[in-house]
Amino acid sequence: MKEENKGLEIDSKSKDLIKKWKKQADSLKKKHPKWNAEKVQQEMKKRIIQEAKEALSSKSGQAYMEEVNAHLREVEDVRKKAIDGIMAYMGKKSPEAIATVLFELDCGCIRACAVSQKGTPMGEMIMVSGKQVEKDYECSICRDDGGADPRRCIRKALVWPGEESELPSEEFRLDIGKKVFGDDYSLGDI
Ligand SMILES: [Zn+2]
Repeated sequence: MKEENKGLEIDSKSKDLIKKWKKQADSLKKKHPKWNAEKVQQEMKKRIIQEAKEALSSKSGQAYMEEVNAHLREVEDVRKKAIDGIMAYMGKKSPEAIATVLFELDCGCIRACAVSQKGTPMGEMIMVSGKQVEKDYECSICRDDGGADPRRCIRKALVWPGEESELPSEEFRLDIGKKVFGDDYSLGDI
């Protein structure tokens, strides 16, 4: 599992591919000295899309996509379970909270804090590993930076406890959202 959570590190296969595309772009420039950068880019895009189509329509390409999709579903499952766990914990720890604010990090961990009726943080900030990991395994990235680096936050959201039918009004949610995240918070974020 640890291996699968390397994030955006470029593997050697992708590096080779990028090298190949660079070479192709260079030879296009030599072949067509009048082409500007935009034209070269357009031609490269066409080639890359064509290559991807061919690769993905092959048997091994389809198997690869299935693998990717299965992995994405697994990641989403783990994330949902982590959020359910957080909401259950908050329900016990801060039953008077109206919502929970989540900061999802690029490593898969989630920071969470209960939000009061006034839209202010209450109780402790908790840290949950969204990764399916062995017991006692801590995220090594968060161990180094405490998970507090805002640049690593990929998603911020308010989660409201209870069923959909129990949701507070849009107006109220927008108002709390603005208090928590600032005036940039809009209906689209709800
Ligand atoms: Zn982490």
